[in-house]
Amino acid sequence: MPESKKAVGTRAKKIIRILAEEHPEADCALDHRSPFQLLISTILSAQCTDARVNQVTQSLFKKYPTPEAFVQAESEDLEEAIRPTGFFRNKAKNIQACCASLIRDHGGRVPETMEELTALAGVGRKTANVILGNCFGVPGIVVDTHFGRLSRRMGLTQESDPVKVERELADLIPPEEQVLFCHRMILHGRQVCGSRKAQCEICVVEMVCPKEELPS
Ligand code: SF4
Repeated sequence: MPESKKAVGTRAKKIIRILAEEHPEADCALDHRSPFQLLISTILSAQCTDARVNQVTQSLFKKYPTPEAFVQAESEDLEEAIRPTGFFRNKAKNIQACCASLIRDHGGRVPETMEELTALAGVGRKTANVILGNCFGVPGIVVDTHFGRLSRRMGLTQESDPVKVERELADLIPPEEQVLFCHRMILHGRQVCGSRKAQCEICVVEMVCPKEELPS
């Protein structure tokens, strides 16, 4: 018999509390000084580690400090600068198109709504939620690969489609908890509940986690 909504909600509450105690320091792992820098960093973070993005952006933002500078860059130069993050041709194209839209439609500023953000090149709901939550204080669920995997293992959702996971978890997690909860889940996925190895024996939520879909 499927679990009741109430049982899942009770487990979610316990997991929120336990992870808050375990990872009080969890925060956005991408270095940034402005919504614009976080937007570019998040586009670069697709299929790349945050640590590598941070290495690249150290010099990138000195060379290209504004949307105008990215638009005016020679595409080969920009591709070379972001090459270590992978998929660099596509990312360079998206970044230049995104910056052109920022200048044309938003006065060079990063917009503050989901609709406007997802209209930008290279920006999906995940990236938009990162910007909204970390820069503008708008609640939202950031579903990256860690978050989706942990939510399923913890029995908080059975969905694999990121938009459906986002919707279900947004119903389950109180709005004021959502941004930090996502940071904590992502950190927990990196440190303890990895895609190939779930270290249940040292995991703080072991007592409440149903351990669904574990790797064999
Ligand atoms: S108990 Fe195991 S499956 Fe559940 S979150 Fe911890 S490591 Fe992951």
